[in-house]
Amino acid sequence: MAGTIRVTVWNEYRHERENEKIAAVYPRGIHGAIAAGLGEDARFTVRTATLDEPEHGLTEDVLAETDVLTWWGHKAHGDVDDAIVERVQRRVHEGMGLLVLHSAHFSKIFKRLMGTTCDLKWREANERERIWVVAPGHPIAAGLGEYIELEHEEMYGEHFDIPEPEMLVFVSWFAGGEVFRSGACYTRGAGRIFYFRPGHETYPTYENLDVRRVIANAAEWAAPRQAVPRIFGNALPVEPIKGYVPPAKYHPAG
Ligand code: ZN
Repeated sequence: MAGTIRVTVWNEYRHERENEKIAAVYPRGIHGAIAAGLGEDARFTVRTATLDEPEHGLTEDVLAETDVLTWWGHKAHGDVDDAIVERVQRRVHEGMGLLVLHSAHFSKIFKRLMGTTCDLKWREANERERIWVVAPGHPIAAGLGEYIELEHEEMYGEHFDIPEPEMLVFVSWFAGGEVFRSGACYTRGAGRIFYFRPGHETYPTYENLDVRRVIANAAEWAAPRQAVPRIFGNALPVEPIKGYVPPAKYHPAG
Protein backbone atom coordinates (compact mmCIF):
# COMPACT_ATOMS: atom_id res chain seq x y z
CA MET A 1 0.00 0.00 0.00
CA ALA A 2 1.29 3.44 -0.84
CA GLY A 3 2.25 5.59 2.11
CA THR A 4 0.70 8.92 2.97
CA ILE A 5 3.92 10.98 2.89
CA ARG A 6 4.82 11.89 -0.69
CA VAL A 7 8.58 12.14 -1.13
CA THR A 8 10.38 13.41 -4.23
CA VAL A 9 14.02 12.31 -4.36
CA TRP A 10 16.00 14.83 -6.40
CA ASN A 11 19.49 14.13 -7.72
CA GLU A 12 21.89 16.03 -9.93
CA TYR A 13 22.69 12.63 -11.57
CA ARG A 14 25.86 13.65 -13.41
CA HIS A 15 28.65 11.74 -11.61
CA GLU A 16 26.88 8.41 -12.15
CA ARG A 17 26.54 9.05 -15.91
CA GLU A 18 30.05 10.41 -16.43
CA ASN A 19 32.23 8.16 -14.24
CA GLU A 20 32.01 4.39 -14.50
CA LYS A 21 33.46 3.80 -11.03
CA ILE A 22 30.66 5.86 -9.52
CA ALA A 23 28.11 4.18 -11.80
CA ALA A 24 29.31 0.86 -10.35
CA VAL A 25 28.61 2.11 -6.82
CA TYR A 26 25.19 3.51 -7.79
CA PRO A 27 23.93 1.67 -10.88
CA ARG A 28 20.44 3.16 -10.40
CA GLY A 29 21.89 6.56 -9.55
CA ILE A 30 22.10 8.04 -6.07
CA HIS A 31 18.42 8.93 -6.38
CA GLY A 32 17.64 5.30 -7.21
CA ALA A 33 19.37 4.09 -4.02
CA ILE A 34 17.68 6.68 -1.80
CA ALA A 35 14.28 6.01 -3.41
CA ALA A 36 14.74 2.25 -2.96
CA GLY A 37 15.37 2.73 0.75
CA LEU A 38 12.33 4.95 1.23
CA GLY A 39 10.22 2.77 -1.05
CA GLU A 40 10.56 -0.22 1.32
CA ASP A 41 8.92 1.86 4.05
CA ALA A 42 5.11 1.84 4.18
CA ARG A 43 5.04 5.47 5.32
CA PHE A 44 6.08 6.82 1.93
CA THR A 45 5.08 7.20 -1.70
CA VAL A 46 8.27 7.95 -3.61
CA ARG A 47 9.11 9.53 -6.96
CA THR A 48 12.43 10.76 -8.34
CA ALA A 49 13.50 13.83 -10.31
CA THR A 50 16.85 14.79 -11.82
CA LEU A 51 18.64 17.91 -13.03
CA ASP A 52 18.57 17.16 -16.77
CA GLU A 53 14.81 16.58 -16.95
CA PRO A 54 12.67 19.52 -18.14
CA GLU A 55 12.38 22.02 -15.25
CA HIS A 56 14.81 19.66 -13.42
CA GLY A 57 11.81 17.36 -12.89
CA LEU A 58 10.42 19.88 -10.42
CA THR A 59 7.38 21.31 -12.18
CA GLU A 60 4.71 23.22 -10.25
CA ASP A 61 2.56 20.07 -10.35
CA VAL A 62 5.32 17.81 -8.99
CA LEU A 63 6.12 20.20 -6.16
CA ALA A 64 2.43 20.68 -5.35
CA GLU A 65 2.26 16.90 -4.86
CA THR A 66 5.47 16.74 -2.79
CA ASP A 67 5.41 16.69 1.01
CA VAL A 68 9.15 16.21 1.37
CA LEU A 69 11.91 16.90 -1.17
CA THR A 70 15.37 15.34 -0.77
CA TRP A 71 18.26 17.08 -2.54
CA TRP A 72 21.63 15.64 -3.63
CA GLY A 73 23.91 17.78 -5.78
CA HIS A 74 27.64 18.36 -6.11
CA LYS A 75 29.30 19.37 -9.37
CA ALA A 76 26.45 21.21 -11.08
CA HIS A 77 24.91 23.47 -8.46
CA GLY A 78 25.36 26.33 -10.93
CA ASP A 79 23.22 24.57 -13.55
CA VAL A 80 20.14 24.69 -11.33
CA ASP A 81 17.80 27.35 -12.71
CA ASP A 82 17.20 30.22 -10.29
CA ALA A 83 13.47 30.13 -11.13
CA ILE A 84 13.31 26.52 -9.91
CA VAL A 85 15.24 27.42 -6.76
CA GLU A 86 12.69 30.19 -6.16
CA ARG A 87 9.87 27.69 -6.68
CA VAL A 88 11.35 25.20 -4.20
CA GLN A 89 11.94 27.95 -1.65
CA ARG A 90 8.31 29.08 -1.96
CA ARG A 91 7.11 25.52 -1.33
CA VAL A 92 9.36 25.24 1.73
CA HIS A 93 7.87 28.45 3.08
CA GLU A 94 4.42 26.96 2.49
CA GLY A 95 5.33 23.88 4.52
CA MET A 96 7.12 21.36 2.25
CA GLY A 97 9.93 19.53 4.05
CA LEU A 98 13.48 19.59 2.61
CA LEU A 99 16.27 17.08 3.30
CA VAL A 100 19.63 18.44 2.20
CA LEU A 101 22.16 15.67 1.67
CA HIS A 102 25.97 15.75 1.78
CA SER A 103 27.47 18.08 -0.87
CA ALA A 104 24.12 19.82 -1.27
CA HIS A 105 25.46 22.01 1.55
CA PHE A 106 26.61 24.16 -1.39
CA SER A 107 23.34 23.96 -3.35
CA LYS A 108 21.64 27.23 -4.27
CA ILE A 109 18.53 26.26 -2.35
CA PHE A 110 20.36 25.48 0.91
CA LYS A 111 22.56 28.59 0.77
CA ARG A 112 19.51 30.72 0.06
CA LEU A 113 17.50 29.22 2.91
CA MET A 114 20.41 29.51 5.36
CA GLY A 115 21.70 32.93 4.31
CA THR A 116 25.34 32.00 5.03
CA THR A 117 28.19 30.67 2.86
CA CYS A 118 27.60 27.05 4.06
CA ASP A 119 31.34 26.48 3.46
CA LEU A 120 33.31 23.80 5.30
CA LYS A 121 36.60 21.84 5.36
CA TRP A 122 36.87 18.61 3.36
CA ARG A 123 39.29 15.81 2.49
CA GLU A 124 39.06 12.60 0.43
CA ALA A 125 41.18 10.08 2.34
CA ASN A 126 38.94 7.01 2.65
CA GLU A 127 38.63 7.56 6.37
CA ARG A 128 36.29 6.23 9.01
CA GLU A 129 33.34 8.39 10.06
CA ARG A 130 31.56 7.90 13.36
CA ILE A 131 28.26 9.80 13.46
CA TRP A 132 27.31 10.32 17.11
CA VAL A 133 23.70 10.82 18.13
CA VAL A 134 23.72 13.95 20.31
CA ALA A 135 19.91 14.28 20.61
CA PRO A 136 18.89 10.71 21.57
CA GLY A 137 15.24 11.64 22.12
CA HIS A 138 14.82 13.24 18.68
CA PRO A 139 12.54 11.41 16.19
CA ILE A 140 15.25 11.58 13.49
CA ALA A 141 17.46 9.36 15.68
CA ALA A 142 14.71 6.84 16.48
CA GLY A 143 15.89 3.22 16.28
CA LEU A 144 19.62 4.00 16.07
CA GLY A 145 22.35 2.98 18.49
CA GLU A 146 24.69 5.52 20.08
CA TYR A 147 26.36 6.12 16.76
CA ILE A 148 26.51 5.12 13.09
CA GLU A 149 29.86 3.99 11.80
CA LEU A 150 30.85 4.29 8.15
CA GLU A 151 34.10 2.55 7.25
CA HIS A 152 34.93 4.85 4.34
CA GLU A 153 33.71 8.39 3.77
CA GLU A 154 34.86 11.78 2.67
CA MET A 155 35.69 14.08 5.61
CA TYR A 156 33.76 17.28 6.26
CA GLY A 157 35.18 19.38 9.09
CA GLU A 158 34.40 22.45 11.16
CA HIS A 159 34.02 25.20 10.81
CA PHE A 160 30.74 24.64 8.94
CA ASP A 161 29.35 28.10 8.18
CA ILE A 162 25.65 27.53 8.92
CA PRO A 163 23.27 29.42 11.20
CA GLU A 164 22.99 27.96 14.70
CA PRO A 165 20.85 24.81 14.21
CA GLU A 166 17.47 24.82 15.95
CA MET A 167 18.31 21.26 16.93
CA LEU A 168 21.53 19.36 16.38
CA VAL A 169 20.90 15.62 16.08
CA PHE A 170 24.32 14.31 14.98
CA VAL A 171 27.99 15.19 15.34
CA SER A 172 30.53 13.32 13.21
CA TRP A 173 34.04 12.34 14.21
CA PHE A 174 36.58 11.44 11.52
CA ALA A 175 39.67 9.26 11.75
CA GLY A 176 41.82 12.23 10.77
CA GLY A 177 40.68 14.07 13.89
CA GLU A 178 38.06 16.57 12.73
CA VAL A 179 34.49 16.87 13.97
CA PHE A 180 31.43 18.16 12.11
CA ARG A 181 27.81 19.07 12.90
CA SER A 182 26.36 16.43 10.61
CA GLY A 183 22.62 16.49 11.37
CA ALA A 184 21.03 19.93 11.72
CA CYS A 185 17.36 20.96 11.91
CA TYR A 186 15.88 24.27 10.80
CA THR A 187 12.49 25.85 10.19
CA ARG A 188 11.94 28.37 7.40
CA GLY A 189 8.40 29.70 7.11
CA ALA A 190 6.16 26.67 7.66
CA GLY A 191 8.77 24.27 6.27
CA ARG A 192 11.16 21.97 8.12
CA ILE A 193 14.70 21.48 6.83
CA PHE A 194 17.20 18.79 7.82
CA TYR A 195 20.82 18.76 6.68
CA PHE A 196 22.44 15.29 6.81
CA ARG A 197 26.16 15.02 6.04
CA PRO A 198 27.22 11.56 4.76
CA GLY A 199 26.82 10.46 1.14
CA HIS A 200 29.94 11.03 -0.97
CA GLU A 201 29.35 9.62 -4.45
CA THR A 202 32.24 7.13 -4.41
CA TYR A 203 30.96 5.19 -1.37
CA PRO A 204 27.79 3.09 -1.03
CA THR A 205 26.61 5.19 1.93
CA TYR A 206 22.98 5.31 0.78
CA GLU A 207 22.84 1.51 0.94
CA ASN A 208 23.73 1.63 4.67
CA LEU A 209 20.68 0.65 6.71
CA ASP A 210 21.26 3.19 9.48
CA VAL A 211 21.71 5.98 6.93
CA ARG A 212 18.48 4.86 5.28
CA ARG A 213 16.76 4.85 8.64
CA VAL A 214 17.86 8.44 9.28
CA ILE A 215 16.60 9.58 5.88
CA ALA A 216 13.24 7.89 6.47
CA ASN A 217 12.93 9.30 10.00
CA ALA A 218 13.86 12.75 8.71
CA ALA A 219 11.30 12.54 5.90
CA GLU A 220 8.59 11.76 8.44
CA TRP A 221 9.81 14.55 10.75
CA ALA A 222 9.92 17.11 7.89
CA ALA A 223 6.52 16.25 6.42
CA PRO A 224 3.93 19.02 6.72
CA ARG A 225 1.42 18.55 9.51
CA GLN A 226 -1.98 20.03 10.25
CA ALA A 227 -1.21 23.66 10.87
CA VAL A 228 -3.06 26.86 11.62
CA PRO A 229 -3.58 28.70 8.30
CA ARG A 230 -1.02 31.44 7.71
CA ILE A 231 -2.91 34.67 6.88
CA PHE A 232 -0.97 37.69 5.61
CA GLY A 233 -1.73 41.24 4.42
CA ASN A 234 -3.94 44.13 5.41
CA ALA A 235 -6.46 42.83 7.97
CA LEU A 236 -9.87 43.94 9.16
CA PRO A 237 -10.00 44.21 12.95
CA VAL A 238 -11.51 41.22 14.75
CA GLU A 239 -13.21 43.60 17.20
CA PRO A 240 -14.67 46.96 16.13
CA ILE A 241 -12.24 49.85 16.64
CA LYS A 242 -13.86 53.21 17.35
CA GLY A 243 -13.13 55.74 14.63
CA TYR A 244 -11.27 53.24 12.38
CA VAL A 245 -12.34 53.37 8.74
CA PRO A 246 -11.22 50.24 6.83
CA PRO A 247 -9.59 50.75 3.42
CA ALA A 248 -11.99 51.11 0.51
CA LYS A 249 -11.54 47.57 -0.76
CA TYR A 250 -13.12 46.27 2.43
CA HIS A 251 -16.25 48.45 2.06
CA PRO A 252 -19.30 46.48 0.98
CA ALA A 253 -20.26 47.23 -2.61
CA GLY A 254 -22.68 50.20 -2.86
ZN1 ZN B 1 31.42 14.44 -1.42
